[in-house]
Amino acid sequence: MAELEIKSVSKSFGAVGVLQNINLQIKSGEFVVFVGPSGCGKSTLLRMITGLETESSGEIFIDGKRVNEVDPAKRGTAMVFQSYALYPHMTVAENMGFGLKMAGEPKAEIKEKVAQAAAILRLERLLERRPGQLSGGQKQRVAIGRAIVRQPKVFLFDEPLSNLDAELRVQMRAELIDLHRRLGATMIYVTHDQVEAMTLADRIVVMSGGVVQQFGKPLDLYDDPDNRFVAGFIGSPKMNFLDAVVSEVGSEQIVLSKVGGSDRNLRLPFRGFPQKVRQVAIGIRPEHVRLGSGTAEELPVTVSFAEELGDVTYIHGKTPAGGSVIIRSDKARFSGKDDCTVALDPAGVKLFDADGRRLREIGV
Ligand code: ADP
Ligand code: MG
Repeated sequence: MAELEIKSVSKSFGAVGVLQNINLQIKSGEFVVFVGPSGCGKSTLLRMITGLETESSGEIFIDGKRVNEVDPAKRGTAMVFQSYALYPHMTVAENMGFGLKMAGEPKAEIKEKVAQAAAILRLERLLERRPGQLSGGQKQRVAIGRAIVRQPKVFLFDEPLSNLDAELRVQMRAELIDLHRRLGATMIYVTHDQVEAMTLADRIVVMSGGVVQQFGKPLDLYDDPDNRFVAGFIGSPKMNFLDAVVSEVGSEQIVLSKVGGSDRNLRLPFRGFPQKVRQVAIGIRPEHVRLGSGTAEELPVTVSFAEELGDVTYIHGKTPAGGSVIIRSDKARFSGKDDCTVALDPAGVKLFDADGRRLREIGV
C-alpha cells in the first residue's frame, strides 16, 4: 500500500508527443481508474509508473521516493496485462510463483504465498492445472495471483478484462472490488470502458489526447463535468448536446435562442454569464429531457425510434438542426408519435463554450 505522485510528466516517442504535463496525486489504498479512448496514452502512463517506459520529462514518486531511475523490479509495482502472458508449460502454481523463484525466494515461502493468493482468488483446486486447461476468467485470475504473490505496493492493471465476455466481465469486476477491499492496496486500472471505470473506481482520471481532462469521483464527473469531452464520455446513453445562441444576458439569467436549430427560446437562471460568449452548446442528459405537452417553450423533435428496455424507454429523435436527442421515459410503453416536443429541465442543463469549456455560474 503506497501513495503515488506523478509530477509534470510528459512523454514523446521521437517527435510525437503522447502525454502532456500529467500531474496526479493518488492516495494510499485508493482504486484509481485511467479511462479514455484508445490511443490517448493510458498504457504509456501505466508503463512509466512501473518502469517499462522512461519519462521524457517529469518525475514519479512512490511513497515519497523518486523512482525515475529505479529498476522496474524494485519499484514495488506489479502489472496485470490484458493478454494473460502465462507460461503454457507451467502449472498454475508454477506460473504464480515464477517471479518469486527468479528473485531467489526460498521454496517454502513461495509455496505459502502461492497458497495464500490461491485462496484469495479461489484457485486452490486448480493449482496443478496448466493454462490450456483453464477458462479465460481463470487465466486472468492466475495473472492477478502472480501479481498478488509479489505483495506489491501498487497494483497496475492494463485492460485486464477486455478479453472476457460481457457476463464474465461483470463478475470479474465484482471480484476486483472485493479483492481491493480485502487487500487494501493501491490499485491503478486502465480501461477504455467508462462503465467499467464508473463501477470500479474510487476516483477516475479521464484522459484524451495525452491530457488529463478531469480527475474526480465517478458521480462528480457525471454531475459536474469540467468540459464537453468529459460530459460526453461519461454516462450511457450519452449526454445530449444542442447548439444555441445567447440572445440576452442578465445578471441572474440568460436567454438562449435557436435552441437545436429551432425557433424556440430557453430562459435559464445563470449568475454572472460571461458577456463575450455568444455561441454555446447545451449539454443535457436523457433523464433531464422529458416528453412535453406542446407548449411554446418546448423544443420540437422528430422521433426516429424508441428503445423499450422494460424498466425504461429511450426515445431517439432529431432536432430541427438534425442533431440527435435521447429522451429517457419511465413509461413502459411509448405511444410511437413521429413528432413531439420535449422540455429541458433547467436544473440538468450544463453550458459549454465553443472550445468545449464548461461555463459555470459565479458563486456556485
Ligand atoms: P492507450 O493505452 O490509451 O490506448 P497508448 O499509451 O498505448 O494508448 O498509446 C498512446 C499513443 O502512443 C498512441 O498513439 C500509440 O500509437 C503511441 N505509442 C505507444 N507506444 C509507442 C512506441 N513504443 N513507439 C511509438 N509510439 C508509441
Ligand atoms: Mg492501452
